[in-house]
Amino acid sequence: MKKTHKDLHRATVLTHGGRPEGARVTVNPVVARTSTVVFDSMATLREALAGRARHERGLLYGRKGSSTGDALEDVITALEAGERTRLFSSGLAAMTCAILSVVRTGDHMLVIDSCYEPVRKFCSQYLAGMGVTHEFFKPDLSDLAEKLTPQTRLVWAECPGTALFEMCDLPALVEMARRHGNVTVAVDNTWASGLMYRPLEHGADMSVIAGTKYLVGHSDVMLGAVTTSAAAWPRLEEVADLMGHSVSPDDAYLALRGARTMAVRMERQQESALRLARWLQQHPLIRRVFCPSLPDDPGYAIWSRDFDGGNGLLSIEFIARVDGPMVDRFVESLQLFSIGHSWGGYESLALPMHLPSTRHLQGLDIGGNIVRLHVGLEDPQDLMLDIEAALSSLSALV
Ligand SMILES: *Cc1c(COP(=O)(O)O)cnc(C)c1O
Repeated sequence: MKKTHKDLHRATVLTHGGRPEGARVTVNPVVARTSTVVFDSMATLREALAGRARHERGLLYGRKGSSTGDALEDVITALEAGERTRLFSSGLAAMTCAILSVVRTGDHMLVIDSCYEPVRKFCSQYLAGMGVTHEFFKPDLSDLAEKLTPQTRLVWAECPGTALFEMCDLPALVEMARRHGNVTVAVDNTWASGLMYRPLEHGADMSVIAGTKYLVGHSDVMLGAVTTSAAAWPRLEEVADLMGHSVSPDDAYLALRGARTMAVRMERQQESALRLARWLQQHPLIRRVFCPSLPDDPGYAIWSRDFDGGNGLLSIEFIARVDGPMVDRFVESLQLFSIGHSWGGYESLALPMHLPSTRHLQGLDIGGNIVRLHVGLEDPQDLMLDIEAALSSLSALV
C-alpha cells in the first residue's frame, strides 16, 4: 500500500492492505507453504538471525512466520492501529499467550467478570497452579480500584462482554490501571474484530481477537491474533516464539480472503441484528433483548461514544414461564438458525446460554432463560418469519 494506513478508512485498509507490490504482480499474496527456508550464504543466514534478535521480520524458518502470515498481520495491525501483530492457531491460544507474556509467578491479575468462559478456566485451572492469582471485577468498574493490588500486573477486559454484551468504559479502566503503576491492560476485541473498535486508541496495551469469528467470516478456519503497543511487543513476540506458536499459510490466506469483505458483512449483519432486536423487544414471550446498539440498552452510551458500529449478535431473555425444555424446543424449531458454538460467519446461529457458570459477581436481574442469536447474511425478513414461527409454537405451551 502506497499511502500510510493512517490516511485511510478501515474498509480501504481491508481492501488494499497486505497486497503484493511491484511492476507485475498477482492481486493476492502467494500461499507460501514451507518449513525450511534456505540461504545463499552464511552471511545471509547470520543477517536473518540478527534481524530476528532485533524483532525484525524476514523469513527464517516456517514456525517463525511466512510471507502470507505477514500480509495478514499487516492488515490487522493497520485495523487495530497497533505496533505489530502476531497470529495464533486459535483465539484462545492468542489470549493465553498474551496473558503469559505479562504475568509471572507471584503476580496478580484482574479479569472482567463478563469474559469469555475459557479465559476464566485458564486462570483458575492453569494460572492458579503456576502461582499467579486472579480476581474478577465488574464490567461497570465499580470495584476495580479497590481490587488493584501492588502485585497486579495485568487487567483483562472484554468489551462488550460475552453473552450479555455489557459495555465497559475502557478509557476509565486504563486511567485507573495507569494511576496504579506498572499494569498492562489487554482487551478481548473479538466482538468488534478490530473493525468497529480499536482498544489501543483508548489506551490499552494489547488487543486480542478470535479471527475465527468475523475476520475469517466463513466458519472454516480457527485463528487468533494479538496486536500490541510498541512497549508490549518484544515480550509478546518472545513468549510466542518460546512456546512455538505458529499458523499455517493456508489458514492465514483464508483469513486474509475473509478480511476483504469483513466491512460489508459486518455492516449488513449489524443492520439485520438491530432490526430483529427491535422487533423481538415487542414480543410478549421475551422479557429483554441484550444488544448494545439498541438505544435503550444500558451500554448504548459507551457503545455510541467509542465504537464505529456493531455486529450480528444479540441475546434474548425469555419470560420466566419459558422453561429449559421450551427453550430447547424453540432453538430446535428454528429452520434458518442452526444450533452451534461460535459466530461471525455468514450464517445464522442460535445457542442457549448458561450464565451461572460464567458470571458470579454481578447482581444480575435475570429471571428467564437466555438464548444468543447470531444474525447471518440471510434476508432479515426470512429470519424474522422463522423466529416468529418458532415463538408461536411456544405460545401454545406457555
Ligand atoms: C470465540 C471467542 C474466543 C476464542 O476464539 P477461538 O478461535 O474459538 O479459540 C475468545 N473470545 C471471544 C469473545 C470469543 O467469542
